[in-house]
Amino acid sequence: MRLMRIGQPGQERPVLAAADGKHRDLRPVTGDIDGPFLAALAEDPGLVPDPASLPETSIEGERVGAPVARPSAVLCIGQNYAAHAAESGAEPPERPILFYKSPNTVVGPNDDVLIPRGSKKTDWEVELAVVIGRRARYVASPEEALAHVAGYAVSDDVSERAYQLEESGGQWSKGKSCETFNPLGPVLVTADEVPDPQALRLRSWVNGEARQDSTTADMIFGVAELVHHLSQFLVLEPGDIVNTGTPQGVALSGRFPYLAPDDVVELEISGLGRQRSVLRPAP
Ligand code: ZN
Repeated sequence: MRLMRIGQPGQERPVLAAADGKHRDLRPVTGDIDGPFLAALAEDPGLVPDPASLPETSIEGERVGAPVARPSAVLCIGQNYAAHAAESGAEPPERPILFYKSPNTVVGPNDDVLIPRGSKKTDWEVELAVVIGRRARYVASPEEALAHVAGYAVSDDVSERAYQLEESGGQWSKGKSCETFNPLGPVLVTADEVPDPQALRLRSWVNGEARQDSTTADMIFGVAELVHHLSQFLVLEPGDIVNTGTPQGVALSGRFPYLAPDDVVELEISGLGRQRSVLRPAP
C-alpha cells in the first residue's frame, strides 16, 4: 500500500494511493496515519479493505503532508555509506552511529525548508527512512527485525554543518534539529511492497544538477541489522522513523556549494517517489 496524508499542516487526512492511480479516502478506517494505526495494521494486515470499497478522493492542488503523523522519535544513523564517511573525513564506523533529530523537524515532502538564522552551511542528505510498525525491543536477530518495519519513505536529513560540527560540543543533534529539517514522503510504501530494502536507488539534485546517486546496497549496516542493533539499546515505537544514513555527494564534501535561499532540492528513491523543497530564510 501507498499511504499519504493530504491537507494543511495539522489538518491532514489519510489517503490511500491505489494501484489504479486513483486516491481513496482512508477516514472510514483511521483518523490518521500514526503510530497506533501502524501498530494495528501490523497485527491485522487486512485492516484496510479493498480500495474499491473506499470513497474516491481528489488530491489535486492540495498540500502533501509527511506520510506519518507525530513520530515519538526520529533516529538517524551517521556515516552509513563508506564513501560518505570518507568525504566527511572519517573512517567507516565499526558499529552504527546513532543521533537524534527533534520529531518536530518532520514536514511535508514539498514544504519549504528554512535556512536557520546565521546559517552558512545548510546541506542536503537523501536517505531511506524506515517507519516502525511493531514495537521493537531486544529483537532476537536481524532476521526477525524486518517484521517490525511498517514501511519506507524518502527522507531529507537536512543538516547545518557548522552547528553539527563546530558548535556541537561533540553531539551532532544541534545541526540536525533546526525547524523544517526533515522533509518526509510523499508516500509511506508498506514493507510488503519493498521486498528488498537494500536494492533501492537513491538520488538528489540541487537546482536540477545531480548531487547524490547511489544505492542502498552500499549501506554499511542494512535495515535489518540497524533495527536489530538499535533495539538492544532502546525501544522503537510504532510510527518512529529511522533515517538510515546518506551516500556521498553532499556539500560537506567540498565539491558543491551549501544551500542558499531559492535553491531547489529534489530527492528520489526508486519506488518511493520524489520530493521537491525550496530553501527560504527562516523568518
Ligand atoms: Zn543523515
